[in-house]
Amino acid sequence: MEHKKVQELRWDPVLGEWVMVSNIRDLRPWQPQSFCPFCPGAPETGVGWDVLILKNRFPMLSEEPILPEKHEFYSTAPSYGKCYVVIETPKHDIDDISDLSTAEIYRVLESIKKKQEEEMVDPKVVYFLFFRNKGKEIGVSLTHPHSQIYVTPFIPSKILRELINSNKYYSKKRRCLFCDIINVERNGKERTVAITDHWIAFLPFYAHWPFEVHIYPLTHVQVLPQLNSEVIEDMARIVRKVLCGIKKVFEKPMPYMMTLHQAPLRGTYKFYHMHIEIYGIYRVVGKLKYAAGMETGGGNFTYDSTPEEAAHILRNIIDTKCEE
Ligand SMILES: [Zn+2]
Ligand SMILES: [Zn+2]
Ligand SMILES: [Zn+2]
Repeated sequence: MEHKKVQELRWDPVLGEWVMVSNIRDLRPWQPQSFCPFCPGAPETGVGWDVLILKNRFPMLSEEPILPEKHEFYSTAPSYGKCYVVIETPKHDIDDISDLSTAEIYRVLESIKKKQEEEMVDPKVVYFLFFRNKGKEIGVSLTHPHSQIYVTPFIPSKILRELINSNKYYSKKRRCLFCDIINVERNGKERTVAITDHWIAFLPFYAHWPFEVHIYPLTHVQVLPQLNSEVIEDMARIVRKVLCGIKKVFEKPMPYMMTLHQAPLRGTYKFYHMHIEIYGIYRVVGKLKYAAGMETGGGNFTYDSTPEEAAHILRNIIDTKCEE
Protein backbone atom coordinates (compact mmCIF):
# COMPACT_ATOMS: atom_id res chain seq x y z
CA MET A 1 0.00 0.00 0.00
CA GLU A 2 1.25 3.44 -0.92
CA HIS A 3 2.12 5.59 2.06
CA LYS A 4 -0.22 8.53 1.77
CA LYS A 5 0.36 11.27 4.30
CA VAL A 6 -2.68 11.83 6.48
CA GLN A 7 -3.05 14.27 9.33
CA GLU A 8 -6.65 15.13 10.00
CA LEU A 9 -9.50 15.12 12.47
CA ARG A 10 -12.11 12.45 11.80
CA TRP A 11 -15.58 12.81 13.26
CA ASP A 12 -17.06 9.76 14.96
CA PRO A 13 -20.76 10.23 14.12
CA VAL A 14 -21.74 7.38 16.44
CA LEU A 15 -20.18 8.72 19.63
CA GLY A 16 -20.16 12.34 18.47
CA GLU A 17 -16.50 13.10 19.02
CA TRP A 18 -13.27 13.82 17.16
CA VAL A 19 -10.40 11.39 16.62
CA MET A 20 -6.95 12.83 15.79
CA VAL A 21 -5.41 10.81 12.95
CA SER A 22 -1.82 11.18 11.78
CA ASN A 23 0.71 8.91 10.10
CA ILE A 24 3.36 11.60 9.85
CA ARG A 25 6.63 10.44 11.28
CA ASP A 26 9.49 12.71 12.01
CA LEU A 27 12.74 11.61 10.39
CA ARG A 28 14.75 12.58 13.44
CA PRO A 29 12.86 10.89 16.24
CA TRP A 30 13.19 11.64 19.93
CA GLN A 31 14.38 8.27 21.08
CA PRO A 32 16.30 7.36 24.16
CA GLN A 33 19.70 6.95 22.51
CA SER A 34 23.10 7.41 24.04
CA PHE A 35 22.10 10.85 25.28
CA CYS A 36 18.92 12.33 26.71
CA PRO A 37 17.29 14.77 24.26
CA PHE A 38 15.75 16.74 27.17
CA CYS A 39 18.92 17.32 29.17
CA PRO A 40 20.64 20.72 29.06
CA GLY A 41 23.10 20.91 26.20
CA ALA A 42 21.17 18.55 23.89
CA PRO A 43 20.69 19.86 20.31
CA GLU A 44 17.22 21.27 21.03
CA THR A 45 17.54 22.35 24.63
CA GLY A 46 20.61 24.57 25.00
CA VAL A 47 21.69 25.69 28.44
CA GLY A 48 20.67 28.17 31.11
CA TRP A 49 17.01 27.29 31.65
CA ASP A 50 14.82 26.13 34.54
CA VAL A 51 11.77 25.09 32.53
CA LEU A 52 11.63 24.64 28.77
CA ILE A 53 8.58 24.34 26.50
CA LEU A 54 9.41 22.83 23.09
CA LYS A 55 7.29 21.91 20.09
CA ASN A 56 6.66 18.15 20.05
CA ARG A 57 8.49 16.21 17.35
CA PHE A 58 5.49 13.92 16.83
CA PRO A 59 2.65 16.41 16.70
CA MET A 60 -0.87 15.08 16.27
CA LEU A 61 -1.81 18.69 15.50
CA SER A 62 0.03 21.12 13.28
CA GLU A 63 0.04 24.79 12.39
CA GLU A 64 0.20 23.74 8.73
CA PRO A 65 -1.94 20.62 8.64
CA ILE A 66 -2.40 18.57 5.49
CA LEU A 67 -5.86 19.37 4.13
CA PRO A 68 -8.21 16.45 4.67
CA GLU A 69 -9.71 14.69 1.69
CA LYS A 70 -13.42 15.23 1.17
CA HIS A 71 -15.70 12.29 1.87
CA GLU A 72 -19.26 11.95 0.69
CA PHE A 73 -20.33 10.34 3.93
CA TYR A 74 -17.83 11.12 6.67
CA SER A 75 -16.84 14.45 8.19
CA THR A 76 -13.24 15.55 8.61
CA ALA A 77 -11.51 18.76 9.69
CA PRO A 78 -7.95 20.08 9.48
CA SER A 79 -5.74 19.02 12.39
CA TYR A 80 -4.86 22.60 13.19
CA GLY A 81 -3.27 23.07 16.60
CA LYS A 82 -0.09 22.77 18.59
CA CYS A 83 1.60 20.08 20.64
CA TYR A 84 4.28 20.99 23.15
CA VAL A 85 6.59 19.13 25.49
CA VAL A 86 7.20 20.80 28.86
CA ILE A 87 10.66 19.90 30.19
CA GLU A 88 10.02 20.62 33.85
CA THR A 89 13.56 20.65 35.15
CA PRO A 90 17.16 20.37 33.92
CA LYS A 91 17.60 17.55 36.51
CA HIS A 92 17.56 14.23 34.68
CA ASP A 93 17.85 11.89 37.64
CA ILE A 94 14.85 12.68 39.78
CA ASP A 95 12.03 10.15 39.72
CA ASP A 96 9.10 12.54 39.62
CA ILE A 97 8.21 16.23 39.97
CA SER A 98 7.24 15.60 43.60
CA ASP A 99 11.01 15.32 44.15
CA LEU A 100 11.31 18.99 43.13
CA SER A 101 10.77 21.84 45.57
CA THR A 102 7.57 23.87 45.71
CA ALA A 103 9.53 26.79 44.19
CA GLU A 104 10.61 24.63 41.23
CA ILE A 105 7.07 23.34 40.61
CA TYR A 106 5.86 26.94 40.87
CA ARG A 107 8.13 27.87 37.96
CA VAL A 108 6.69 25.03 35.88
CA LEU A 109 3.13 26.21 36.54
CA GLU A 110 4.01 29.84 35.77
CA SER A 111 5.56 28.74 32.45
CA ILE A 112 2.38 26.86 31.54
CA LYS A 113 0.26 29.89 32.46
CA LYS A 114 2.42 32.10 30.24
CA LYS A 115 2.16 29.65 27.33
CA GLN A 116 -1.61 29.59 27.75
CA GLU A 117 -1.76 33.40 27.64
CA GLU A 118 0.21 33.33 24.38
CA GLU A 119 -2.12 30.73 22.84
CA MET A 120 -5.29 32.60 23.80
CA VAL A 121 -4.74 35.09 20.97
CA ASP A 122 -4.88 32.41 18.24
CA PRO A 123 -8.49 32.48 16.95
CA LYS A 124 -8.19 29.02 15.39
CA VAL A 125 -7.83 27.12 18.66
CA VAL A 126 -10.39 26.68 21.41
CA TYR A 127 -8.76 24.56 24.10
CA PHE A 128 -5.51 24.30 26.05
CA LEU A 129 -5.01 20.84 27.54
CA PHE A 130 -2.07 20.35 29.91
CA PHE A 131 -1.35 16.76 30.91
CA ARG A 132 1.36 14.60 32.43
CA ASN A 133 1.91 10.85 32.03
CA LYS A 134 4.23 9.14 34.50
CA GLY A 135 5.58 5.60 34.41
CA LYS A 136 6.90 3.20 31.79
CA GLU A 137 3.88 0.99 32.62
CA ILE A 138 1.74 3.52 30.74
CA GLY A 139 4.15 3.99 27.87
CA VAL A 140 6.42 6.84 28.96
CA SER A 141 9.77 5.98 27.40
CA LEU A 142 11.75 9.16 28.11
CA THR A 143 12.48 9.28 31.82
CA HIS A 144 13.58 12.93 31.96
CA PRO A 145 10.70 14.68 33.82
CA HIS A 146 8.31 16.17 31.28
CA SER A 147 4.66 16.82 30.58
CA GLN A 148 2.69 17.88 27.50
CA ILE A 149 0.31 20.48 26.15
CA TYR A 150 -2.20 20.07 23.32
CA VAL A 151 -3.74 23.25 21.98
CA THR A 152 -6.77 21.97 20.09
CA PRO A 153 -9.35 23.30 17.62
CA PHE A 154 -12.12 21.43 19.49
CA ILE A 155 -13.18 21.05 23.13
CA PRO A 156 -12.00 17.63 24.41
CA SER A 157 -14.93 15.24 24.99
CA LYS A 158 -14.50 14.85 28.73
CA ILE A 159 -14.38 18.62 29.26
CA LEU A 160 -17.44 19.04 27.05
CA ARG A 161 -19.35 16.57 29.21
CA GLU A 162 -18.33 18.48 32.34
CA LEU A 163 -19.41 21.77 30.75
CA ILE A 164 -22.80 20.37 29.77
CA ASN A 165 -23.52 18.87 33.19
CA SER A 166 -22.29 21.82 35.22
CA ASN A 167 -24.26 24.20 33.00
CA LYS A 168 -27.44 22.17 33.61
CA TYR A 169 -26.79 22.20 37.36
CA TYR A 170 -26.19 25.94 37.31
CA SER A 171 -29.35 26.62 35.29
CA LYS A 172 -31.43 24.70 37.81
CA LYS A 173 -29.83 25.75 41.11
CA ARG A 174 -28.01 28.99 40.28
CA ARG A 175 -24.94 27.58 42.00
CA CYS A 176 -21.66 26.13 40.81
CA LEU A 177 -21.71 22.33 40.87
CA PHE A 178 -18.00 22.21 41.72
CA CYS A 179 -18.30 24.74 44.57
CA ASP A 180 -21.06 22.56 46.03
CA ILE A 181 -18.85 19.45 45.74
CA ILE A 182 -15.96 21.33 47.41
CA ASN A 183 -18.25 22.31 50.30
CA VAL A 184 -19.37 18.74 50.86
CA GLU A 185 -15.77 17.45 50.87
CA ARG A 186 -14.51 20.27 53.09
CA ASN A 187 -17.16 19.54 55.69
CA GLY A 188 -17.15 15.76 55.46
CA LYS A 189 -13.37 15.27 55.25
CA GLU A 190 -13.50 11.48 54.79
CA ARG A 191 -12.27 11.76 51.21
CA THR A 192 -10.02 14.83 51.68
CA VAL A 193 -6.30 14.09 51.43
CA ALA A 194 -4.78 17.58 51.63
CA ILE A 195 -5.91 21.15 52.20
CA THR A 196 -3.91 24.39 51.92
CA ASP A 197 -4.78 28.11 52.11
CA HIS A 198 -6.21 28.20 48.58
CA TRP A 199 -6.68 24.57 47.48
CA ILE A 200 -8.32 21.28 48.47
CA ALA A 201 -7.45 17.75 47.25
CA PHE A 202 -9.79 14.80 47.65
CA LEU A 203 -10.84 11.51 46.09
CA PRO A 204 -14.18 12.11 44.42
CA PHE A 205 -17.18 10.23 45.82
CA TYR A 206 -17.44 8.84 42.28
CA ALA A 207 -13.73 8.09 41.68
CA HIS A 208 -13.02 5.96 38.61
CA TRP A 209 -9.35 5.08 39.18
CA PRO A 210 -7.94 3.46 42.37
CA PHE A 211 -6.10 6.59 43.54
CA GLU A 212 -7.96 9.32 41.68
CA VAL A 213 -7.43 12.74 43.25
CA HIS A 214 -9.11 15.99 42.22
CA ILE A 215 -7.51 19.27 43.29
CA TYR A 216 -9.68 22.42 43.32
CA PRO A 217 -9.00 26.08 44.02
CA LEU A 218 -11.28 27.15 46.89
CA THR A 219 -12.32 30.26 45.00
CA HIS A 220 -14.52 30.03 41.93
CA VAL A 221 -12.22 30.45 38.90
CA GLN A 222 -12.33 29.04 35.36
CA VAL A 223 -8.81 29.18 33.92
CA LEU A 224 -5.17 29.17 35.04
CA PRO A 225 -4.44 32.75 33.87
CA GLN A 226 -6.95 34.03 36.46
CA LEU A 227 -4.69 32.84 39.28
CA ASN A 228 -2.16 35.20 40.86
CA SER A 229 1.34 34.17 41.90
CA GLU A 230 0.35 33.51 45.52
CA VAL A 231 -2.39 31.06 44.48
CA ILE A 232 -0.09 29.39 41.93
CA GLU A 233 2.60 28.99 44.57
CA ASP A 234 0.05 27.30 46.80
CA MET A 235 -1.04 25.16 43.81
CA ALA A 236 2.58 23.99 43.48
CA ARG A 237 2.55 23.11 47.19
CA ILE A 238 -0.58 20.92 47.02
CA VAL A 239 0.41 19.28 43.70
CA ARG A 240 3.76 18.33 45.22
CA LYS A 241 2.09 16.91 48.33
CA VAL A 242 -0.45 14.83 46.41
CA LEU A 243 2.09 13.49 43.88
CA CYS A 244 4.45 12.67 46.75
CA GLY A 245 1.62 10.71 48.40
CA ILE A 246 0.80 8.89 45.14
CA LYS A 247 4.47 7.99 44.78
CA LYS A 248 4.79 6.66 48.32
CA VAL A 249 1.52 4.74 48.78
CA PHE A 250 3.25 1.54 47.68
CA GLU A 251 6.89 0.57 47.91
CA LYS A 252 7.11 1.03 44.12
CA PRO A 253 6.25 4.47 42.65
CA MET A 254 2.76 4.38 41.18
CA PRO A 255 2.20 5.25 37.49
CA TYR A 256 -0.27 8.08 37.07
CA MET A 257 -1.84 10.54 34.66
CA MET A 258 -2.49 14.16 35.56
CA THR A 259 -4.66 16.59 33.59
CA LEU A 260 -5.63 20.21 34.04
CA HIS A 261 -9.34 20.79 33.40
CA GLN A 262 -10.22 24.38 32.55
CA ALA A 263 -12.85 26.35 30.66
CA PRO A 264 -12.21 26.76 26.89
CA LEU A 265 -9.96 29.60 25.73
CA ARG A 266 -12.85 31.74 24.50
CA GLY A 267 -16.43 32.27 25.55
CA THR A 268 -17.96 32.67 29.01
CA TYR A 269 -18.24 29.68 31.26
CA LYS A 270 -19.16 31.26 34.59
CA PHE A 271 -20.69 27.96 35.73
CA TYR A 272 -17.38 26.09 35.37
CA HIS A 273 -14.62 25.67 37.97
CA MET A 274 -11.08 24.71 36.98
CA HIS A 275 -9.37 21.75 38.64
CA ILE A 276 -6.63 19.15 38.34
CA GLU A 277 -7.41 15.46 37.98
CA ILE A 278 -4.80 12.84 38.90
CA TYR A 279 -5.33 9.15 38.24
CA GLY A 280 -3.06 6.87 40.27
CA ILE A 281 -3.59 3.51 38.64
CA TYR A 282 -2.22 0.79 40.97
CA ARG A 283 -4.91 -1.24 42.74
CA VAL A 284 -2.26 -2.91 44.88
CA VAL A 285 1.49 -2.73 44.42
CA GLY A 286 2.53 -3.60 40.87
CA LYS A 287 -1.07 -4.35 39.83
CA LEU A 288 -2.44 -1.88 37.31
CA LYS A 289 -6.08 -1.09 37.01
CA TYR A 290 -6.91 -1.50 33.32
CA ALA A 291 -9.61 0.32 31.45
CA ALA A 292 -10.79 -3.01 30.01
CA GLY A 293 -14.02 -4.41 28.61
CA MET A 294 -16.46 -2.79 31.02
CA GLU A 295 -14.62 0.55 31.13
CA THR A 296 -13.52 0.89 27.50
CA GLY A 297 -16.25 -1.22 25.93
CA GLY A 298 -19.12 -0.22 28.16
CA GLY A 299 -17.90 3.16 29.32
CA ASN A 300 -18.47 2.66 33.07
CA PHE A 301 -15.78 2.09 35.64
CA THR A 302 -15.67 -0.53 38.36
CA TYR A 303 -13.94 0.39 41.63
CA ASP A 304 -12.53 -2.54 43.64
CA SER A 305 -12.51 -0.84 47.05
CA THR A 306 -14.08 2.45 48.16
CA PRO A 307 -12.73 5.95 47.55
CA GLU A 308 -13.04 6.53 51.33
CA GLU A 309 -10.65 3.64 52.09
CA ALA A 310 -8.17 4.80 49.44
CA ALA A 311 -8.40 8.39 50.76
CA HIS A 312 -7.64 7.18 54.28
CA ILE A 313 -4.48 5.40 53.05
CA LEU A 314 -3.32 8.32 50.91
CA ARG A 315 -4.02 10.95 53.60
CA ASN A 316 -1.88 9.05 56.13
CA ILE A 317 1.02 8.82 53.67
CA ILE A 318 0.79 12.53 52.82
CA ASP A 319 0.62 13.51 56.52
CA THR A 320 3.54 11.33 57.57
CA LYS A 321 5.87 11.24 54.54
CA CYS A 322 5.25 14.34 52.46
CA GLU A 323 5.86 17.35 54.67
CA GLU A 324 7.85 20.21 53.18
ZN1 LIG B 1 17.72 14.15 30.63
ZN1 LIG C 1 -17.21 27.03 41.59
ZN1 LIG D 1 -12.62 17.39 35.42
